[in-house]
Amino acid sequence: PCRALLLGSAQHPGWRGEVPLLVMKFGGTSVADLARIANAAEKVRREVERGYDVIVIVSAMSGRTNDLVGSVEGTSPMFDAREYDAVVSSGENVTAGLMALALQEMEVPARSWQGWQVPVRTTDAHGAARIEGIDTENLDAKFTEGLPAVIAGFQGIGPDGRITTLGRGGSDTTAVAFAAALGAERCDIYTDVDGVYTTDPRICKKARKLDRIAYEEMLELASLGAKVLQTRSVELALRYK
Ligand code: ASP
Ligand code: MG
Repeated sequence: PCRALLLGSAQHPGWRGEVPLLVMKFGGTSVADLARIANAAEKVRREVERGYDVIVIVSAMSGRTNDLVGSVEGTSPMFDAREYDAVVSSGENVTAGLMALALQEMEVPARSWQGWQVPVRTTDAHGAARIEGIDTENLDAKFTEGLPAVIAGFQGIGPDGRITTLGRGGSDTTAVAFAAALGAERCDIYTDVDGVYTTDPRICKKARKLDRIAYEEMLELASLGAKVLQTRSVELALRYK
């Protein structure tokens, strides 16, 4: 059967057999330097030890994407969005490779994947593309070449065969899309704060951490500008539970 995730159908094709699957996503601050990458890899190793298959989604190292955007704008103020994507998607490629290496150093046989290699198929809206599907056919077999599979977040391949990016903060959406496509047991998102707050704790001292939040409330916070999760990732999570 074709197991491509068609966003819009709420089918969970499931992961191979009965092995439970976790998606673990690490944001830019969690992979900001080699020590933090090793620390994140250790968290992954612990879940592998507990018996999970893990798919790791990584962001670019903190500040990296901003630097890349600056380089694009500094070179070409009216830039070609396809080349913008070629440049700004590269931060995640670096982290994916480094994360796979850090896991290998712990005797965990990981391998990295860029979006086009999976492939993560998107629309052609360069700079703000939407994921249209993840080709999950044979993905379990492909991924057993090296597990955990470490996937560069934020990027995919458009109908024109060119690299796309999903808009700023888009690696959250990559993570949720993989969790939905493969019927993961959980999608864990690691970031630079210890949870979702009533407001931005970096600005407001009275911010309170929430223990639980409903999809609709999270959607509201995200669309009002909370950067903790990309709005589109919450929409996807709501749709696929
Ligand atoms: N690195 C990209 C950004 O800064 C994607 C992400 O981190 O989610 O927007
Ligand atoms: Mg983010």
